[in-house]
Amino acid sequence: MVGSAIVRQLHGNPNIELVTRARSQLDLTNQHQVSQFFKEKALDQVYLAAAKVGGIYANNTYPGEFIYQNLMIQANVIHGAFTAGIRKLLFLGSSCIYPRLAEQPISEETLLTGPLEPTNEPYAIAKIAGIKLCESYNRQYGSERGIDYRSVMPTNLYGPGDNYHLEDSHVIPALIRRFHEAKENNTPVVKVWGTGKPKREFLYVDDMARACVYIMNLDKAEYSEYTKPGCSHVNVGAGADIAIKDLAELIADVVGYVGAIAFDSSMPDGSPRKLMNSNRILNLGWRSETSLRNGLAKAYSDFKKKS
Ligand code: GDP
Repeated sequence: MVGSAIVRQLHGNPNIELVTRARSQLDLTNQHQVSQFFKEKALDQVYLAAAKVGGIYANNTYPGEFIYQNLMIQANVIHGAFTAGIRKLLFLGSSCIYPRLAEQPISEETLLTGPLEPTNEPYAIAKIAGIKLCESYNRQYGSERGIDYRSVMPTNLYGPGDNYHLEDSHVIPALIRRFHEAKENNTPVVKVWGTGKPKREFLYVDDMARACVYIMNLDKAEYSEYTKPGCSHVNVGAGADIAIKDLAELIADVVGYVGAIAFDSSMPDGSPRKLMNSNRILNLGWRSETSLRNGLAKAYSDFKKKS
């Protein structure tokens, strides 16, 4: 989803030649294939948006796949880019890297100050390793080889290209699908997982793609002004969060579902809240532009195109 949004963002720029590979063409968990890919063509910049991702149920059900695939993808791509002499790389992490009970809004300095949310700890550990891989390469090879690898931590993302799987997806695509199907079938009640009380911050994927391109191309002096060598990642959030109950009502409204909503408290809530402090990127000059309602309307039309 994010990779496609970055491609949309860069597409049409006559100064940029985009080099992309579909999963069927290049298995990023395979070190040999990745190093061959980097030998095929000299690249100036690498956006590492590829990852094994999923919602709370998928993370909780397939922890082995989440930690293994993400560690492999990151190690192969970051080390492969380094070996190929590529100086600029942007790694995408996630807000779940922060402690479960982090002080809100969560600043970048909160990393590694407390226990993680158990439902997605393996995924979070992989993403923390990715940040530290970038920082370690910068520290060891920065001045000698000009390595400048940056990391951005998006809040919960949604938008075109999302995964609408009923169990494995994140809350927004799951509820878009459930409310849509309930509307079509005149189902009187839709179930929403958990208590409805947790709060989440949501960012439209094209706003995230703009942030990625912005951070990638920031002058090193400017980037360094707001980041630190041992804490160099940058949060990217929309600045406000919403309770899952209110989100469900908003999605029902966007979709046009008029039936009842019930909460299934046998399903996990996950983190109680994860609103990020995005002051670093705000100070650096980026702004989120898409309101949640407008973003949800765009996501719903993407869903309808595909269903
Ligand atoms: P998380 O931020 O990693 O917890 O990401 P999710 O998008 O999977 O879940 C966010 C919140 O939405 C959690 O509190 C879930 O319990 C809640 N939620 C409610 N209904 C659903 C659903 O159908 N799918 C998912 N994934 N989460 C849901």
